[in-house]
Amino acid sequence: MAHEDLKQKLIDAGKVLVAEGQDDFTRGHISMRVPGDPGHFYMKAHSIGMDEITMDNILTIDLEGNVTAGTAKRHSEVYIHSEILKARPDLNCVIHTHPTYSCAFSATGRPMRALSQPSALFYKNLGVYTDTINLIRTHEMGRGVAKALGPHRAVILKNHGVVVCGASIEEAVVSVIMLENAAQVQLIAEAAGEVAPEFPEADVKKLQHDISRADQFVVNFDYLVRRVRRREAKG
Ligand SMILES: [Zn+2]
Repeated sequence: MAHEDLKQKLIDAGKVLVAEGQDDFTRGHISMRVPGDPGHFYMKAHSIGMDEITMDNILTIDLEGNVTAGTAKRHSEVYIHSEILKARPDLNCVIHTHPTYSCAFSATGRPMRALSQPSALFYKNLGVYTDTINLIRTHEMGRGVAKALGPHRAVILKNHGVVVCGASIEEAVVSVIMLENAAQVQLIAEAAGEVAPEFPEADVKKLQHDISRADQFVVNFDYLVRRVRRREAKG
């Protein structure tokens, strides 16, 4: 994919994330590995909303967190992205946000249960980072988040937020929305009282496999982009 097309996808992704309630003032960020250059990634800049990413303010950053192209301010939490992309060559996109239900779920300290279809995506596939409530502002803290992520697709930062990853922008964006929905359903179900036993592991794993297909992430991401563009057209 041409670099301009990929940057456009990053711009669209930011608008989708805000439309889906993943914004928290100008906090929250998204990065994407540069195609053909695995040691660098594109990233949203500091001091703007995720829906304000433009071709001109996207930064290019190396795996040590140094800005190599662009003049906008860099997020101090860049190390979440650089250390995960360093540790996980299979991943290309990293999203960090503070969505309400995921934060509330993180505060319970409970494991995620397979209480809904979106939750199946994270069934035994979700790390937990418990070192600090503070911003991830050093290489060492970034390494801690990458370690907590382990082989999973996402990691909950206790009392802080989430980090959700993917091989593609589509996968990471759709996954972070699904994680928020899964957290919401579990919080409601557990608040309602005793939850009935879940389905057997093999049944949940089958669903996990079926909803993890790359083409499904693309279908759903493209839909969300069309919806954002329709709203923009209406003004
Ligand atoms: Zn944060």
